[in-house]
Amino acid sequence: MKQKIPLAGVIGSPIAQSKSPRLHRHWLRRYGLRGDYVPLHVEPENLETVLRAMPKMGFVGANVTIPHKVAVMQFADQISDRATLVGAANTLIFKDDGRIFADNTDGYGFMANLRQQAPEWDPKAGPAAVLGAGGAARAIIVALADAGVTEILLSNRTRAKADALRSEFGARIRVVDWVQAGNMLEDATTVVNTTSLGMVGQPDLRVPLDGLRAGTLVTDLVYNPLRTPLLEAAQAAGCVTVDGLGMLLHQGVPGFERWFGTRPEVDEETRRVVLG
Ligand code: NAP
Repeated sequence: MKQKIPLAGVIGSPIAQSKSPRLHRHWLRRYGLRGDYVPLHVEPENLETVLRAMPKMGFVGANVTIPHKVAVMQFADQISDRATLVGAANTLIFKDDGRIFADNTDGYGFMANLRQQAPEWDPKAGPAAVLGAGGAARAIIVALADAGVTEILLSNRTRAKADALRSEFGARIRVVDWVQAGNMLEDATTVVNTTSLGMVGQPDLRVPLDGLRAGTLVTDLVYNPLRTPLLEAAQAAGCVTVDGLGMLLHQGVPGFERWFGTRPEVDEETRRVVLG
């Protein structure tokens, strides 16, 4: 029997904007590996059918993006600890017998990006301020807690979602009203925007930023634009800034390694290629 060409892809709706195909195809080319990676536009009502069919079509795994990150968990046969903690998966591995292993690499990508772009950053230096309590915030909170951050100040427009995260993840989280979000920046040595505010086509982040202190690490999950107004303001205030593109690139590393057998490197060339 001829050897199958390993396939991977990203499942979402919409999907045309995804940078993952460009990233994984670049790595396949760079390391001279057999395989391909395709964008898959899948509506929620077709998710299970597609997941059951993919292993039979030669897929060895997939990334999962909006709106399927939570729904995909119910179709997994095995779930990693970090995906269980976060309550969502972004990386699937299909076993030879079609069984599905679900993992979440967003927190890994977030931390690997900070370690690479801001090697001096000490997560234990003081409180972290997190803006937003959506799906991405869950992975960030787990990653920050894992890295030893002792206090997480959390603010979200819909306070109930921040309160729910506090109930789930415990006393190291202090919830701050959205109208007071600017105040928590004064105490923070790490600031993370996990909202979609500041992204192209979305409203601006209107949180007052004059509390930012020089030396604070400020990072934005939004990477379009690459330099968000938050990062520009933080840089002007003397903060250390890290954009969100690196998180996207690093979160792809564990999946690529599992599917294609080589651990890929995230470097300047990777950034250039993905930015096009
Ligand atoms: P999500 O679950 O829909 O959460 C969206 C968050 O943004 C919520 O906290 C929401 O607050 C807040 N928000 C939206 N519109 C708002 C407004 N007008 N005013 C105040 N708050 C508002 O989305 P997600 O999956 O967490 O993703 C959030 C962002 O992170 C997106 O831009 C996504 O592209 C980015 N992201 C980047 C990476 C990366 O690798 N760099 C990875 C994952 C996500 P409410 O709860 O009040 O609605």
